[in-house]
Amino acid sequence: MLAEIKGLNEECGIFGIWGHEDAARLTYYGLHSLQHRGQEGAGIVVAGGGNLSGHKGLGLVTDVFQSGTLDALFGSAAIGHVRYSTAGGGGYENVQPLLFRSQTGAMALAHNGNLTNAIELKLALEGQGSIFQTTSDTEVFAHLIRRSQAPTFVGQMKEALSQIEGAFAFLLLTETALYAALDPHGFRPLSLGRLGSAYVVASETCAFDVIGATYEREVAPGELLIISGEGVRSERFAPERPRSICSMEYIYFARPDSHVDGINVHTARKNLGKRLALEAPAEADIVTGVPDSSISVAIGYAEATGIPYELGLIKNRYVGRTFIQPSQALREQGVKMKLSPVRGVVAGKRVVMVDDSIVRGTTSRRIVAMLREAGAVEVHVRISAPPITHPCFYGIDTSSKEELIAAKHTVEDIRRLIGADSLAFLSQEGLLAAIGRPEGAPQRGQCLACFTGQYPTRISPIARPCMTVK
Ligand code: SF4
Repeated sequence: MLAEIKGLNEECGIFGIWGHEDAARLTYYGLHSLQHRGQEGAGIVVAGGGNLSGHKGLGLVTDVFQSGTLDALFGSAAIGHVRYSTAGGGGYENVQPLLFRSQTGAMALAHNGNLTNAIELKLALEGQGSIFQTTSDTEVFAHLIRRSQAPTFVGQMKEALSQIEGAFAFLLLTETALYAALDPHGFRPLSLGRLGSAYVVASETCAFDVIGATYEREVAPGELLIISGEGVRSERFAPERPRSICSMEYIYFARPDSHVDGINVHTARKNLGKRLALEAPAEADIVTGVPDSSISVAIGYAEATGIPYELGLIKNRYVGRTFIQPSQALREQGVKMKLSPVRGVVAGKRVVMVDDSIVRGTTSRRIVAMLREAGAVEVHVRISAPPITHPCFYGIDTSSKEELIAAKHTVEDIRRLIGADSLAFLSQEGLLAAIGRPEGAPQRGQCLACFTGQYPTRISPIARPCMTVK
């Protein structure tokens, strides 16, 4: 998985904890384990001593929180965020959590996802006199809370939640409670865990493992959890709709050791590989996966075909992030620095190269060329997802429709353009069967919109697809 050079990027990861004296440090560890979900900014806000205080900055978690920074964040509750900028763009002001102060108290907000009616709401709010500090759609939610006339804070939150559309997993922290809310379709994963008497909420369960917390349950679509000194209370702000969890969480984004809505990601990816082997076998000597996410898929493909799995490509983890390079030429150079073929493994071999997606096609073309330069005699590309033909409006940067190679080319055209000997994508049915979510719900409760163009929610005519904004 080379998210940042491929043009397919997750927007954010969130982590929250209530009731632990070392809240900031545990949040730091939680964010560190969610770093793959966003590398452009990180922040933590703690509640303690009757106040909210925080620290945030641009860069990786380890860059933002240098020694001593955490010691200044006292409190027994915290929320944290790692960010990849799509909606709203990069820049310090958009790094979360966003902290708001008013005469009635302070609140901090962390959001994973993308609101599809944010522009409409923002225009309406500005018309009523609101002024925004950031270009992030998350701030819209804070304004809706403040403008609600409901008599209680929970009532205000519920009213605000019922006005926003699209994908959202929110954490909101005040001095008296931690709130967690998931949109009615449940596009993004959000789990609840326990650490002794403390409660934790995170985008992925790998954040529980790193701090020794145990998994309790998923936050349900349309549910608002209120976590305080009185324990956890559950309320609904919307009726539950058919679940539409993002397929890309299983295919590409989530860490292999996480469970997404009860399914282990490594196991799901292995099954994708097995299904791909059934649908698109190849005559080859070795199978290799593009690190990291496709390694599990390649293992499954190898198991099902009997072709040995080999480490044909390795990733250099110490190369700087290539997506900050402005030009395509430099990005492609970045691919070369970041991935290396193992010449001794691929030379003279017919290679099956398994990857999780083709977005613009430039990365695939580069990797195929690299394998050939290293002596591979044939390169058969197998993709563990259907072709991406439509942009995402729910928080994943899939590029614009114009940039998506599968939006305007046939599979045979793409094969030729990337220089492969053969190319096959997994079918939609294969994708759903391999991930193995329960049957019954439409599309087994998965969003497939970037493969089908059938969006599970209304998309405002002025909504923008999720794209990297620099
Ligand atoms: S459109 Fe694609 S990337 Fe976006 S939420 Fe749906 S499955 Fe995920």
